[in-house]
Amino acid sequence: MTMANTLLSIKGLEVVYIAPKGVVKALRDINLEIYEGETLSIVGESGSGKTTLLLSIMRLLPPNSRIIKGSIALKAENGWIDLTGLDENSMRRVRWSKVALVSQAAMNAFNPVLRIKDHFIETARAHMDKFDRELILREARELLKLVMLEPERVLNSYPHQLSGGMKQRTLIALSLLLKPKLILMDEPTSALDVVSQKIILGVLRDLKGKIGSTMILVTHDLGIAAEIADRIAIMYAGKVVEVGSVDKIFYEPLHPYTKALLRAVPRVRFFSEIEAIPGEPPDLINPPSGCSFHPRCPLSMEICKREEPPMIEIEPRRPVACWLHAKR
Ligand code: ATP
Ligand code: SF4
Repeated sequence: MTMANTLLSIKGLEVVYIAPKGVVKALRDINLEIYEGETLSIVGESGSGKTTLLLSIMRLLPPNSRIIKGSIALKAENGWIDLTGLDENSMRRVRWSKVALVSQAAMNAFNPVLRIKDHFIETARAHMDKFDRELILREARELLKLVMLEPERVLNSYPHQLSGGMKQRTLIALSLLLKPKLILMDEPTSALDVVSQKIILGVLRDLKGKIGSTMILVTHDLGIAAEIADRIAIMYAGKVVEVGSVDKIFYEPLHPYTKALLRAVPRVRFFSEIEAIPGEPPDLINPPSGCSFHPRCPLSMEICKREEPPMIEIEPRRPVACWLHAKR
């Protein structure tokens, strides 16, 4: 994996939702690079903005949202495309063929009256000027094998004839049909039983080796991130607060929130007891002053309440936003 090749570059991204109670600051100054061939996992508690980030990249945000600032640049054959500036028609050409999203919402979008094979055909029809039905079905069979499903049985099934785990794997196969450079996965295992979760994790690990796609995997579970990702970005209250390789995040965490998350993971052995993170995630209509983690942080200092910590690079590709690590 060549870390030097950036595939997606997010700069200064700010996204809000206009809600009845006020303006929800869902993403605040997000800066993130995704490198070709890597799996980056985005980890944070519920409400930290993970899904909003994926929906911003896909430009599938709901109507009450606004991208206030920033850019999301995707590397294409002939230069960079800023996804935030594309009209809906151009964006439709990017979705599925360049960037695909596997999510619970996409699972629910299977058309109940179409067999799975028609989902493959319809996806090809919607995105390709010309296509050969037999060729698409041949490709579909290969992809279904890749996600460890029986191709003929699945292609001839209706969505309701598949279990949740099989549907999830079918969606992964479908998302690979147009060979997107970037695959976004939103909590790919959360609605599944333990056995299906294990199968999906195996499939995702396999895909990395076999197709070399770049993946962004959103999860609230650091254990899952550790099994699949190369790097982890920790999000809190709409901000990325720390980024590092899996090893660095697990063995040399810098941000107090990352440390709290690690203590809350049952699979991490070097913390003997599981500790829930005290307090509640903040209200994003009126986020706390200064560092938004300060009301829950055991190491909070005077400056933390007053001023937002800047993102600083402790070492290359190892940014953290915490006053403990900033030179003052
Ligand atoms: P989860 O793990 O629960 O999906 P998340 O980290 O993906 O959480 P988001 O779903 O991106 O977080 O939500 C970020 C913030 O935006 C939350 O405070 C959420 O309540 C709010 N939010 C999300 N969608 C909307 C919406 N359509 N209208 C108003 N607020 C929203
Ligand atoms: Fe804790 Fe302060 Fe660091 Fe925020 S900036 S995480 S409050 S020490």
